[in-house]
Amino acid sequence: MGTKNIYTDNNATTMVAPEVVEEMQPFFSDLYGNPSSMHLFGGQVKKFIDRAREQAASLINADPSEIVFTSCGTESDNAAIRGVLSAHPDKKHIITTRVEHPAVKNVCQYLSKNGYRVTELSVDSRGQIDMDELTEKMDKDTVLVSIMWANNETGVIFPVDDIAKIVKSRGAVFHCDAVQATGKVSIDMNKTPVDLLSISGHKFHAPKGIGALYIRKGTHFVPFIMGGHQEEGRRAGTENVPYIVGFGRACEIALKHLSIENIRVKTLRDRLEKELVEKAIEASVNGDTQNRLPNTTNISFKYIEGESILMLLSEAGIAASSGSACTSGSLEPSHVLRAMGVPFTRVHGSVRFSLSRYNTEDDVDCIIEKMLHIEKQLREISPFGREELYAAQ
Ligand code: PLP
Repeated sequence: MGTKNIYTDNNATTMVAPEVVEEMQPFFSDLYGNPSSMHLFGGQVKKFIDRAREQAASLINADPSEIVFTSCGTESDNAAIRGVLSAHPDKKHIITTRVEHPAVKNVCQYLSKNGYRVTELSVDSRGQIDMDELTEKMDKDTVLVSIMWANNETGVIFPVDDIAKIVKSRGAVFHCDAVQATGKVSIDMNKTPVDLLSISGHKFHAPKGIGALYIRKGTHFVPFIMGGHQEEGRRAGTENVPYIVGFGRACEIALKHLSIENIRVKTLRDRLEKELVEKAIEASVNGDTQNRLPNTTNISFKYIEGESILMLLSEAGIAASSGSACTSGSLEPSHVLRAMGVPFTRVHGSVRFSLSRYNTEDDVDCIIEKMLHIEKQLREISPFGREELYAAQ
């Protein structure tokens, strides 16, 4: 047998938990009814959707009626932004940040070319926004503020409570993309006055192609996808029953693991990061290490190419991801690291390791050993190492 493969790209997607697969199975065979049907076949499955809605609501301490199932995080983001704007057609100013995921960033960019004024808040070298800037930029025309809970590339967590309070005190609607935060940190909709919150199942061991949008009771919202009356008229389309059931189970498991398991993952991440930074020839961590997801570390190996590191890691059976490549797989430098002012010499050599509850101490030992070897190997053959090579960029 070859060496064991190690997966540390959990911010991209996660393994579907075996319990989730098991829970979904009957809905591909016996329980195939349409939940909207009046007959036995429909009624049989409807109660499982209700249960999944309760499980999803419990994970974020919301009311089940506030959960709308969607096809993914991207749809949740689009539905939230479009839904709020359609409900408030008189106001035309949106505030977001420079480090959002393309599922928010590209929607806002499109809107900026189609009648909206969009303000992108800057971030400091730790990846944090300036709360005074947020307050200053809000005006009478501001309808929506869309700011993520945690960043997918660096894991940096924004002060969502404080942001929500400022936004609400100014009378705007607050949408939060919590795709990376859900299941990794505690989220309590009873305490944090977020109006709309995006969630994606495949980031916490549910399958790809299922997500949810939390819509606080009383929030004015026009459905993004129109058609039938599913989801109380907030998202049309026959429900993806097996995936909704799997999503519910994944939410239940995530809630159970939220404290103890995440502390174990954080301990693994901290050791990985500490040893790599201490033992590498030249490595440093990107982002605010105090306010960060427990599973993520983004490390720059100065002067060497992130893509080469990833290729060699992959040959060694280790899956990680590069901060220098965007989601489309292009070699564009990361907009997140650039917004943080990380120099090109470090942006290009950035690697993201994102762990999950399936990672072990042995995985961490192996990554440290292989990564340090790869760094040495690449420095020996690399033409880089001179600032002037980057001067033109
Ligand atoms: N928002 C964030 C912060 C993400 O990290 C992602 C996916 O990486 C998305 C939105 C999109 O979610 P999905 O892949 O479910 O469409």
